[in-house]
Amino acid sequence: MDKKSDCQVCRGQCCRYFGLPIETPETPGDFDDVRWYLLHMGTEVYVEDGDWYLNVRNKCKHLQPDSSCGIYSRRPRICSKYSMNECEAISDEYGHEHHFYNAEQLEAYARGYLRAKRRQAQLKAARRKARQPQISRTA
Ligand code: SF4
Ligand code: SF4
Repeated sequence: MDKKSDCQVCRGQCCRYFGLPIETPETPGDFDDVRWYLLHMGTEVYVEDGDWYLNVRNKCKHLQPDSSCGIYSRRPRICSKYSMNECEAISDEYGHEHHFYNAEQLEAYARGYLRAKRRQAQLKAARRKARQPQISRTA
């Protein structure tokens, strides 16, 4: 299948959502903020190369019924710079480390992440304590 027919078959998937970078959540409060995004209709959150993104599934107003662009000569630079080579719709590679489609999936991930983080902090504190010189009180 050539590139042109890929676009015709996919019916303009790249014009049916947009992704925005968001802060990487680290704390329970951060995760709760991301959960808020996911409580809205048409939202997803994904992680790619360690960076977090909010994905909003909402089609562009100028996508035509035949999947062409209604403002092709005036389309935003994000659209004109988009290369078929980076198109994920036709790539064999799935580039997301994580993809959360709802708040429950995020909450499950957050529980595991925060538990592991707490364990790491406890281990670090224990190692720090073990390295401290022991002071003899019997001298
Ligand atoms: S660039 Fe990719 S997502 Fe966009 S219309 Fe073509 S195949 Fe579909
Ligand atoms: S402006 Fe055109 S190319 Fe850009 S998202 Fe809208 S329909 Fe697609």
